[in-house]
Amino acid sequence: MLRETVRALAEAKIAPFAAAVDEEARFPQEALDALVASDLQAVHVPEEYGGAGADALATVIVIEEVARACASSSLIPAVNKLGSLPVILSGSEALKKKYLGPLAKGDAMFSYCLSEPDAGSDAAGMKTKAVRDGDFWVLNGVKRWITNAGVSEYYTVMAVTDPTKRSKGISAFVVEKSDEGVSFGAPEKKLGIKGSPTREVYFDNVRIPADRMIGEEGTGFATAMKTLDHTRITIAAQALGIAQGALDYAKGYVQERKQFGKPIGDFQGVQFMLADMAMKLEAARQLTYSAAAKSERLDGDLTFFGAAAKCFASDVAMEITTDAVQLLGGYGYTRDYPVERMMRDAKITQIYEGTNQVQRIVMARNLP
Ligand SMILES: Cc1cc2nc3c(=O)[nH]c(=O)nc-3n(C[C@H](O)[C@H](O)[C@H](O)COP(=O)(O)OP(=O)(O)OC[C@H]3O[C@@H](n4cnc5c(N)ncnc54)[C@H](O)[C@@H]3O)c2cc1C
Repeated sequence: MLRETVRALAEAKIAPFAAAVDEEARFPQEALDALVASDLQAVHVPEEYGGAGADALATVIVIEEVARACASSSLIPAVNKLGSLPVILSGSEALKKKYLGPLAKGDAMFSYCLSEPDAGSDAAGMKTKAVRDGDFWVLNGVKRWITNAGVSEYYTVMAVTDPTKRSKGISAFVVEKSDEGVSFGAPEKKLGIKGSPTREVYFDNVRIPADRMIGEEGTGFATAMKTLDHTRITIAAQALGIAQGALDYAKGYVQERKQFGKPIGDFQGVQFMLADMAMKLEAARQLTYSAAAKSERLDGDLTFFGAAAKCFASDVAMEITTDAVQLLGGYGYTRDYPVERMMRDAKITQIYEGTNQVQRIVMARNLP
């Protein structure tokens, strides 16, 4: 029922703008409005903080169905979870009350600031610093590649509080867009997910109250990694949705397009491609859903499964969207059809929340 509801909403209110959002590289405001109107912009927020209380699998289904229509728009529910999960996992009751309510209502979005210009795969090499000053912390530094930066009101920011301890000297904070000293770079010009703004975030002597720290001092990196165990599954969901959109489009196209006097879908060579695409997609979906169940139960092998789901589903999405372009021939290569956008959008799922090389490192260290 949830899938049917979100699919109907996405087809009616999100899909019609997907091409324009990509072409104009603009924020999908129509999608945000539609998601907020249906309480779908941050379904993961627990009911006790005013949210819908969706479990990990339900959240995956929402993201999957939005991504099937428009990958950029799916970053709204996905990054709202990514940005706020550190607070949900490790934050004080006061932080949860203060920040999760507006997120659940649709009054604010939440971003996640881990990466820096010189600290990507090696995130623990970050330089952004927070220095204690009485009842305050003062933040200085630059975060890079921050999804929905400038649009979000709230930012979970990882910063070094003890430079002698590397990952154990990193702490997490909630920073607000309106805090003095916060500013944003120009939007990046990207290959895909062009409707999702990606910008640098600058912290210039940003002075925040000490109670904005998420969890204990020195636990920020652990919280950041724990968060990714859960949210890599939402990237897998995004990959599934993009791939499903491409497969559905190609399936329809091969029945219409005629060559050699018959629909190209009558050729076994084409049918075998579609069969492989559907088979890989379903395998990725089953792995993702089983990872979502593990996320909900906090199973001991979640780290492996979160990385495996993200890695497998994103590799599969890249293959399926590339094959969808192939099935449309020359038309697939143009912007008159949606599959080239889906192929460009799929690529990011192999890169963010840890590249697929990094996922393989994570899996190798956590073999079941
Ligand atoms: C559109 C977009 C949105 C993003 N959103 C966010 C966000 O909201 N918040 C956030 O914090 N970050 C975000 N990121 C950052 C993203 O997570 C990083 O880009 C990613 O982790 C890779 O870091 P990097 O770009 O510095 O690449 P690098 O770490 O420089 O990697 C370059 C290449 O080297 C490989 N490599 C590196 N180390 C190893 C190794 N040990 N073994 C094998 N190969 C290796 C990588 O796999 C990759 O192929 C976003 C990025 C993009 C492009």
